[in-house]
Amino acid sequence: MKFAFLELLNSDWHDYRGSGRSEDRIEDPSWLDRFLSRWGWKTVGLPDRAGRDDLRALRSLLRRLSEDFSTGRHPSEQDLAALNAVLAKTPTVQRVTRAGEAGYRVEQVPLQKDWDWVLGEIAASFVELLVHHDPRRIKVCENPDCGWVFYDESRSRTRRWCDARGCGNLLKVRRFRRRRRSARENQAEQASSN
Ligand SMILES: [Zn+2]
Repeated sequence: MKFAFLELLNSDWHDYRGSGRSEDRIEDPSWLDRFLSRWGWKTVGLPDRAGRDDLRALRSLLRRLSEDFSTGRHPSEQDLAALNAVLAKTPTVQRVTRAGEAGYRVEQVPLQKDWDWVLGEIAASFVELLVHHDPRRIKVCENPDCGWVFYDESRSRTRRWCDARGCGNLLKVRRFRRRRRSARENQAEQASSN
């Protein structure tokens, strides 16, 4: 399942191997271009500095909300109000169109397709998950160096890593080394007390 807000969250990239390297992909025009194209928002063009700051502010808000849901907390009233404020910046009108032979369809059409509209669409993708899917499936990768946010689609809802081969393996190896080290230390201690 793909959600635009997850892509925005993960634009704050951290090297999962713990090198400390990180990248804010909001500052990378080619990443922004791909992101906007993928979701059908390319017509608004690349954001200026103020637009990028708004995008970062929305990312922080959605990160906080996602972490709340991933740990079973209720989000604060303040954060919900902030989310509503982003949605409210995109007024829509209803438009009726013919659908098939005898039917009609009504759709909500934004009054303007500008940066506020893009921010509203990203916020709406979070709301879509909240209302129509399972917010308890929002997870943050358990590798503290990584922090990738994903939607857990496993039947048992027990997925722990963004990627089992990357972060999953890395943490298994670390755990194994830690256990081996403490076993060796125990042995050394016993040998010196004998
Ligand atoms: Zn990860």
